[in-house]
Amino acid sequence: MASMISNYIIIVSISGVLNALLALFAFYRKTDFSGLRAFIVSSAASAVYTFAFALELSGNSMDQIKFWIKLEYLGMPYIAPSSLLMIMHFVGLEKLVSKKLLVLLYSVPVISTVLVWTNDSHHLFYKSIYFRGDAPTPLVDIVMGPWYIVQGSLTFGCMLAGMCLILWRWGRMRRAYLRQMLIIFVGQFLPALGAFLYLMDLTPYGTDPVPVVMSVTSSLYIWAILSRGMLTAAPIARENLFESMRDGVLVMDLSDKLVDYNRAAAEMLEDLDAAAIGRPLAQLFLPAGKEAVDYVMNSNPQISEEQELVWHSGGEVRYYQVRSSPVQKHDGHLAGRMIMLIDVTERTLLQEKLLQLATIDSLTGIYNRTHFMELSRQRLKEAADSAAPFSVILLDIDFFKSINDRYGHQHGDMALQHVVGVCRQHVREGDVFGRYGGEEFVLSLPGTPLEEAALISERIRKDIEHSTFAALTGTIKITASFGVAEAFRRSISLEELLSEADHALYSSKRNGRNAVHLYGVSSITRFKPM
Ligand code: GH3
Ligand code: MG
Ligand code: MG
Repeated sequence: MASMISNYIIIVSISGVLNALLALFAFYRKTDFSGLRAFIVSSAASAVYTFAFALELSGNSMDQIKFWIKLEYLGMPYIAPSSLLMIMHFVGLEKLVSKKLLVLLYSVPVISTVLVWTNDSHHLFYKSIYFRGDAPTPLVDIVMGPWYIVQGSLTFGCMLAGMCLILWRWGRMRRAYLRQMLIIFVGQFLPALGAFLYLMDLTPYGTDPVPVVMSVTSSLYIWAILSRGMLTAAPIARENLFESMRDGVLVMDLSDKLVDYNRAAAEMLEDLDAAAIGRPLAQLFLPAGKEAVDYVMNSNPQISEEQELVWHSGGEVRYYQVRSSPVQKHDGHLAGRMIMLIDVTERTLLQEKLLQLATIDSLTGIYNRTHFMELSRQRLKEAADSAAPFSVILLDIDFFKSINDRYGHQHGDMALQHVVGVCRQHVREGDVFGRYGGEEFVLSLPGTPLEEAALISERIRKDIEHSTFAALTGTIKITASFGVAEAFRRSISLEELLSEADHALYSSKRNGRNAVHLYGVSSITRFKPM
């Protein structure tokens, strides 16, 4: 029997060492976990308690034993409240850890310590202390005093509350943190069970099994900290960060099956819900359309890459930047990949709008002069390079000023839109149509020789002449004058070519308007259709 007690003393001492190590380890570990301080206090208090308990077990006289009990109470009452505080941080209730709560939780332990040290004068903590008759070595037992019950209630209350908090958060915790949760739960549950058996007097010789149990739980904690990076961050805080991200995140395993996703991702991809865990990536992107599926099917999970994709989400077209990057384990091995979905719809639409503002004439919806020039310059060069013909048509509305004067500026605007509408019917694919100035329009016709451009001009001229444009006071007659030129010289610039067309247009104006003039090789001639 005596050897069993000495083995017991050895185990308790080891537990003391482990707790001291744990406290030191936690103390020197610089992490962003806000519950670390409570964890250090709880481990240090456990170390004090278990060492003093080992010494109590090996004590021979009542005086020695009483002294070690006093030392035990420098640690024991503080363990459970500190553990509870640590758990509160762990499950994301750190905001509730106020000064008031600290005073509430620690005032009972402080009073307990004081009462144990002065017990002989009042017997409030234990009424009496006596040697057990059934033990082979000097082991003591106590008769509880009133404050013993208060302290016991606080200890059990804290342990129970800690376990309840863990169970309460269990379902909401991400899988990555469940192991930590389980370890903390066991770290609470085993000592609580030990303490319960002790109180019920169900342990051999009425010895307190908690210090021994603590050797198991502190080993578990040390293992968890070393191998699992436990207590590095409050998981709920991380989870909140993950969930509150505006960007969608999908976490895939090595076989490209869904492991985790956040709320933003669920909003971006239809049918993404808890049932989608384990589904292949391509299947998740099915509702996003073929382009998205093709991209994820062909992207390499081992390298970082990104692509802009567009798909319908919530009934509207959205633009997404899809970023895929590999995820590695601590040991550097590939664990899978993370796919980020960044909604760039606003930015893309703004870019499109800016591009439109920069290239399109707002009144008529056709290209503005700058963009017309840019595009036509390219086409002219391509035509010159391939020795293809290239012509331009300039047209200017006749007596437009008088339309403005007679019907008002607003009707003038409408007349411009009307003329553009007529011209558009003659614009072929590959032609470039733009507003050259106030009521002057321009067409460049790649691959089109002068005669064909003249025919097109003539058709447009006739259409404008015969189209009616309604105003409040009746129909307004509109005609336009045309100038056509072809790039006969390979080296001619667009500006020179337009200047030639302008000369021809001027001839149309001078010769009665509503006419087409051509800038020929040697002279300007009026176009007369056969
Ligand atoms: P012509 O037959 O010689 O071309 O005579 P015109 O009156 O058309 O010639 P002019 O170039 O003198 O007048 C063009 C007018 O077009 C002057 C300007 O007030 C008007 N104008 C230019 N841009 C706009 C516009 O955007 N809206 C309206 N309503 N009028 C415009
Ligand atoms: Mg005019
Ligand atoms: Mg003009």
